[in-house]
Amino acid sequence: MSAAMTANASAEPTETDAVVIGAGPVGLFQVFELGLLGMHADVIDSLPFAGGQCVELYADKPIYDIPATQVCTGRELVARLLAQIEPFAPSLHLGQQVDVVRREADGRFRVETSAGVRLLARVVMIASGVGSFQPRRLKVEGLAAFEGTQLFYGAPEPAALAGRRVLIIGDADAALDCALDLAVPGPTRAANVTLMHRRDEFKAAPQTIEALRRLRAAGEIEFVAAQAAGFETAQARLAALHVTTPDGTMRSLPLDTLLVLTGLSPKLGPIADWGLALERKQLVVDTEKFETSEPGIFAIGDVNTYAGKKKLILCGFHEATLAAFGAAAHVFPGRAIHLEYTTTSPRLHRALGVAPPAE
Ligand code: FAD
Repeated sequence: MSAAMTANASAEPTETDAVVIGAGPVGLFQVFELGLLGMHADVIDSLPFAGGQCVELYADKPIYDIPATQVCTGRELVARLLAQIEPFAPSLHLGQQVDVVRREADGRFRVETSAGVRLLARVVMIASGVGSFQPRRLKVEGLAAFEGTQLFYGAPEPAALAGRRVLIIGDADAALDCALDLAVPGPTRAANVTLMHRRDEFKAAPQTIEALRRLRAAGEIEFVAAQAAGFETAQARLAALHVTTPDGTMRSLPLDTLLVLTGLSPKLGPIADWGLALERKQLVVDTEKFETSEPGIFAIGDVNTYAGKKKLILCGFHEATLAAFGAAAHVFPGRAIHLEYTTTSPRLHRALGVAPPAE
């Protein structure tokens, strides 16, 4: 898509109409509805890709209840939503969490992300779903000190690990794909690759499991069924992970790099600290505009709550439509906002970059 992935780490915030927190299906459709009403959106997501739950949790599973779409997978739905918002060229800031939302003296909102992006927006649309997806951390006391140097929660470029002893923890595609990549003969090959999971069972694609089986048989990848119990250091560096096998035996697995690829789990995160009315960890909204207790901050999709709320994509799309009208009242104060049909409105055709229908 044409939407630029931007990085703005300067002190001066970039001005924008709307910040959309969350690039799940509802956040993406929010961009479309804002665009129809003439508002530009900056979209932020802690995941490195758009799609929220649809891509993170069920990318290849079928969805049957999107209107006028008999069936599509989670990934297909997101691809269609991304194509649909292309005319509005949103700025996507992926792989970073929104940490700060603060009202400034002029009434606008300052939004700051973990990657240093600073924005100044007239409205904030919270589409944060079940929460910010964060890596599941390995709970071994003291190990966090090596994060970013020898311990990583994402798969780095294979070249960065060439010639190293790499221990990978995980049982799903991310961990297995990483192990396979690092064991491929060639200049990026690791010195040795060990995959560890508490059982000799995997939740990855069948062809990936088969590829792993072949490389294990060939001695290219070692598999260890065990759980982390501790670690040892040498010259202030992480030297080995201590693990316990299912029969209770302790082992020491020497390593240069530890990759923990055990998946992501959603956390409500900083949204709880922004002073918005919450009910059972969900944002309370009105059902006219889906505005929160703070004027100018809206909440749509799985993150909100109101009488009769259903956590369905279809319901989130409706909420995003009404929230866009609510947002327009803040972005264009005093301007009458009319409902126009995409079928017949020349203004909307220009906004969408489509030719008007023939007479
Ligand atoms: P999400 O999809 O949860 O996206 C929210 C995004 O916000 C996430 O990517 C998260 O990383 C990001 N985020 C949160 N906080 C922050 C922050 N502080 N900074 C940056 N980013 C942040 N619904 C249907 O209608 N039909 C179905 O058939 C269906 N099937 C489903 C099957 C499964 C297995 C599951 C788990 C759900 C299913 N759902 C279905 C529910 C549907 O996926 C959700 O209703 C939908 O994803 C909600 O969309 P959303 O955009 O509100 O939130």
